[in-house]
Amino acid sequence: MTSAVATQFLPVVAAASATNDFLIVSIHDVAPYTQPIVGKIISALAQKGIHHCSLLVVPNYHHRGASMQDRQFVSWLRDLETGGHEIVIHGYYHQRSHAARETVREKFVTQFYTQGEGEFYDLGYDESLRRIKTARDEFQAAGLKPRGFVAPAWLLSSEGERAARDAEMEYTTRLRNVSDLRTGDIFPARSLVYSVRNAWRRATSLVWNTTLSHALKSKPLMRLSIHPPDYSYPVIWRQIVDFVSAMVPVRTPTTYQDWVAEQRRERGL
Ligand SMILES: [Zn+2]
Repeated sequence: MTSAVATQFLPVVAAASATNDFLIVSIHDVAPYTQPIVGKIISALAQKGIHHCSLLVVPNYHHRGASMQDRQFVSWLRDLETGGHEIVIHGYYHQRSHAARETVREKFVTQFYTQGEGEFYDLGYDESLRRIKTARDEFQAAGLKPRGFVAPAWLLSSEGERAARDAEMEYTTRLRNVSDLRTGDIFPARSLVYSVRNAWRRATSLVWNTTLSHALKSKPLMRLSIHPPDYSYPVIWRQIVDFVSAMVPVRTPTTYQDWVAEQRRERGL
């Protein structure tokens, strides 16, 4: 490294060490069938300096089979966890069973908005508890250490949240906040997230996330949520890489579990 280049790096290093600002990158919908693309996303992020992500793993994606029964998938996850990534429980089936009678609003939320993925949108306490506990036990039996539960499409009913707490989950997240389920603290922090289902949504997402990232610049926690299809659209992926490149020098990349633990430490809890 020449001295001119070294000098250019100095202010960046100083800024990074002087700040307590964090970046959490989460990758959603991790399952055996998304593993190839998630692997590429993890490698691309590592190249940009992100070595700690929260990986939202679906226990049995759309009833395609138990993720923890796939030995190759499990050993891949174990390696990632050992390497500093976090394994998070993300729903159970990631698919909502249709209620017998739905209001127009429910239909809008569950079908149009989430494409029928809002599994925990209105699931009762008992079934929520059963699914989260089953997932937790399956993950633990596979040698993984899940501490968080995130509902598909961030749609978690209050009964579902109570169930997550009773299943000994430490935290959950929603689009607009992170909840410490042990202390009851709710930390406002809106996530950047893309919708890529059609051209109109992609165009809107690009504009919206640009605006949002500027609005969130001064916040102590920046969240970026990535879904596997994001990687397939060059213009979307380009923007994600640009965000990450801009944030890594000034924010410490971390995981949800480490960030929540840090908040408790700071509060002396
Ligand atoms: Zn999801």
